[in-house]
Amino acid sequence: MVIKFYNTLSRKKEIFKPVENKKVRMYSCGPTVYDYIHIGNLRAYVFSDILRKYLEYSGYTVKKIVNITDVGHLTQEEIEYGIDKMEKAAKRENKDVWDIAEFYTEAFKKDCERMNIKEAYKLPRATEHIKEMIKLVEKLIEKKYAYVSNGSVYFDVHKFKNYGKLSGNTIEKLEAGKGGRVKHNPDKKSQLDFALWIKDKNHIMKWKSPWSVGYPGWHLECSAMSMKYLGETIDIHTGGEDNIFPHHESEIAQSEAANGKKFVKYWMHVRHLLVEGEKMSKSLGNFYTLQDLIDKGHSPKAVRYLMMSAHYRKPLNFTMEGLENSKITLDRMLEFMEKLGEVDGKKNPKVKDLIENVKNEFKEAMNDDLNTPIALSAIHDFISKINKLIDEKNVCKDDAKKINKIMQDFDKILGVLKIDKIKVPKEIKELLHKRKLARKNKDFKKSDNIREKIRNLGWEVQDTEKGQKLIKRI
Ligand code: AMP
Ligand code: ZN
Repeated sequence: MVIKFYNTLSRKKEIFKPVENKKVRMYSCGPTVYDYIHIGNLRAYVFSDILRKYLEYSGYTVKKIVNITDVGHLTQEEIEYGIDKMEKAAKRENKDVWDIAEFYTEAFKKDCERMNIKEAYKLPRATEHIKEMIKLVEKLIEKKYAYVSNGSVYFDVHKFKNYGKLSGNTIEKLEAGKGGRVKHNPDKKSQLDFALWIKDKNHIMKWKSPWSVGYPGWHLECSAMSMKYLGETIDIHTGGEDNIFPHHESEIAQSEAANGKKFVKYWMHVRHLLVEGEKMSKSLGNFYTLQDLIDKGHSPKAVRYLMMSAHYRKPLNFTMEGLENSKITLDRMLEFMEKLGEVDGKKNPKVKDLIENVKNEFKEAMNDDLNTPIALSAIHDFISKINKLIDEKNVCKDDAKKINKIMQDFDKILGVLKIDKIKVPKEIKELLHKRKLARKNKDFKKSDNIREKIRNLGWEVQDTEKGQKLIKRI
């Protein structure tokens, strides 16, 4: 079975074949660390995690780099209007800009961990790679793809003949649609040229360069760090759909102009997480952080499940109802896993066939451009069929182990089936005790009320033969 991925560059599904047999070099655009990330960003990171884990499941080794943008994530508009996200955050929190970067980098790592996102091989910071970026700019100037003007350096988009090949925003189209809020910059040969180095001796984060004291352009960091850690041609580069233009288009221009080689074989972009039809974003204020959802009693695993329930190339509308439904579905899977530990029926040859089937269906769906919703529905179908066999006492202990094994294999990618062991707070322990007494006294109304209280605090109580069972699924 071959793996096929949709390549934004060719606008079609292509058979995946890395540069080097069985070794995948992958780069994912990471966060700008001026605030907590929101779950829209997390959709992009969960997608690249599923991608990475599926490749590993399929026998590849994956070297994944995720950058930390701690300087220079400025659109042309922001550069011209002097809005710097990092500087704004430092003012807002009355902190040093370096502390801001450190704090939100750690917060990002924590969110990824809670979402079961496997850590990248490296999380390089833009500010630690200024030397590499300056070298790259020097190379571009030398090759006449870039020019110095009044201390800043710009990439000459007219010199790069393939500009626009990723996004379809060709120079002709861009020329035709010029305007908007972007000010006329007399230093640029063409207003479409983008900044590689920005002269600004007053910028909050600044460095010396051969051209001026200033800071690097945003697109530059990803080209420089991708080359440093993964080489001149890499297999996969991911990001959200908003990264296609100008960010990735400019990355291609800089990297291919400098090296004269293909920069990325497969460009993969995840569609946006929406709220009421609009992109979830900081600027629109329509966002949730992971912590917001945890505070409302939701588990990161349910968030992860929700994200997998839609194909990554389809927009996903975020609603609380959708999240609740994901939790219900996930609970059903967890109950199934528990039930497996208790089966004791007779052996039935159907089980083996069902295992073989689900494995094939899962792979077929994932090979087809990571179709997680189809893969999940194959698993649910499998669960229903096995549940029926369990009820008929047609699953033996040995087969239950095999079923468990295949589910664990799937979970290497899905990452939602492990219930984390968490310390139970004293308050919950006390409520549990009160509920136990209420049940002993057959005061079921009181017992239900206490269960509701416990639920509101983010825990579930189940009554089993062995007594009350407490679950917190985070
Ligand atoms: P930023 O910090 O804005 O550069 O975003 C980090 C990553 O999250 C980028 O790959 C963005 O494309 C992606 N992203 C931002 N907002 C969303 C969203 N609402 N849905 C999906 N991905 C997003
Ligand atoms: Zn990037």
